[in-house]
Amino acid sequence: MTEQILQILKNEALWAGDFLIMPPIGYEPVQIDELDALRRDIGACTRCGLAQSRNNLVFGEGNPQARIMFIGEAPGAVEDETGRPFVGPAGKLLTDIIEGGMGLKREEVYIANILKCRPPGNRDPLPDEVEKCIGFLKRQIAAVKPQIIVALGRISAQNLLNTTTAISALRGNFFSFLDIPLMPTYHPSYLLQNPSKKRETWEDIKKVMTCLGLPVQRTS
Ligand code: URA
Repeated sequence: MTEQILQILKNEALWAGDFLIMPPIGYEPVQIDELDALRRDIGACTRCGLAQSRNNLVFGEGNPQARIMFIGEAPGAVEDETGRPFVGPAGKLLTDIIEGGMGLKREEVYIANILKCRPPGNRDPLPDEVEKCIGFLKRQIAAVKPQIIVALGRISAQNLLNTTTAISALRGNFFSFLDIPLMPTYHPSYLLQNPSKKRETWEDIKKVMTCLGLPVQRTS
């Protein structure tokens, strides 16, 4: 029994000589364990046909205790190459929104997608692909427990909210997903094509910041 307790303590703390250094207050190993376990469960996934064409599965990344989680659609070409979410041109714009707009570091937030593998040619995800994959995203959300979710674009918002309503009608309004407030807004790829929509996106992001108690400095 003593051995078991010692093992648990060793797993949760650091040993320095004879001294046990307890984890800092607020340290939540469980969330990291849950994400690790989820990644192991997904494994080298072959649950849908995207396994055949993908180069890398894109699990998601960021602070396991993030207050805000951004959820996109699916990996694009650069994400598929690197195994990281939102690192291509749309990712650069998302990083600008997070860092330049919100005054956060990208590492402070958590970023994931509806699908973990790239649909060929960036086509829309098929219902079967979403059905096979979305449970993993739900576990990811349950592990991170963000205070707010930002759904990036039509595919993300419609799948999370189980609706066919246009993103232009959804955006700017708070919804609830797994009891967490969810704000739909335009996808960064769409903003690259339609820069005039950045203004509305900024309005949505300001609502998110206000909800989180973050200072809103810029006005446009
Ligand atoms: N678009 C997305 O929806 N997700 C990514 O990770 C990259 C581009």
